[in-house]
Amino acid sequence: MGNKLEGKIAVITGATSGIGLATAKRFVSEGAYVFITGLYQKEIDESVSEIGKNVSGIQSDVSNLADIDKVYDVIKDQKGHIDILFANAGIIQFAPLGEISEKHFDQIFDIDVKGLLFTVQKALPIFQDGGSIILMASIGASKGSANLSVYHAAKAAVRSFARSWTLNLSTRNIRVNAVSPGPIDTPFVNRALNDQQTQQFLQNAVKATPMGRMGSPDEVAKAVSFLASDDSSYITGIELFVDGGTAQI
Ligand code: NAD
Repeated sequence: MGNKLEGKIAVITGATSGIGLATAKRFVSEGAYVFITGLYQKEIDESVSEIGKNVSGIQSDVSNLADIDKVYDVIKDQKGHIDILFANAGIIQFAPLGEISEKHFDQIFDIDVKGLLFTVQKALPIFQDGGSIILMASIGASKGSANLSVYHAAKAAVRSFARSWTLNLSTRNIRVNAVSPGPIDTPFVNRALNDQQTQQFLQNAVKATPMGRMGSPDEVAKAVSFLASDDSSYITGIELFVDGGTAQI
């Protein structure tokens, strides 16, 4: 599939399913060595054998700072540095204003915001100058939703990080970009809603999408690979939408 990531060392958080797993497969097929992280060892082992080569798995919860340290200790020992980081791990939960609990807020912000922040910051000592960081945001960062205000606020924070961190890291020629998918065909929503609710939510999402369908995980992976590679060498601080047009109309 080409070799535009030849010799690069990449890290992808939450890569045992969905967009993270698809991106790990694409990165490897484009020549990278990939470290994937995930919550459960069994899922990590299955993903590593599915990807097949040039991949290692490390169990790590992004909301646990000691776990993040462990990831970078292993990578430092094995490869010495990182060229590409895709901070992808995330969760969604639904609650309207009036029913938002402290737990709801903390769970989403601990994983989607705090976890992503420390995933990036703790990588910096072993991050290669000239490398690329991609942050997983969402069209939710620029849209309202009656039941998703906390999730959308978390993704707006992620989009904002890309702007500021571009400034922090420009002297090292490290680019920082956000990717914002629309509805993508992964288990993501079904982890928070039952099957019927998920179907309803996704039907509405597709109706709101000019292209009239969900995206595939690999359609996001292709955009992430572009941002990871030298093909995007003069692009930093952006939000790249992969949304079938949903947030553009
Ligand atoms: P997914 O549920 O398949 O992937 C999320 C991954 O994150 C899973 O592998 C999960 O195990 C992992 N994860 C969750 N909590 C974690 C934690 N504490 N530590 C480490 N890993 C953790 O769904 P996906 O759609 O591939 O989601 C990936 C990212 O894409 C998420 O950040 C999500 O917000 C974003 N996104 C998804 C969609 C969509 O429609 N699927 C749209 C916009 C943005």
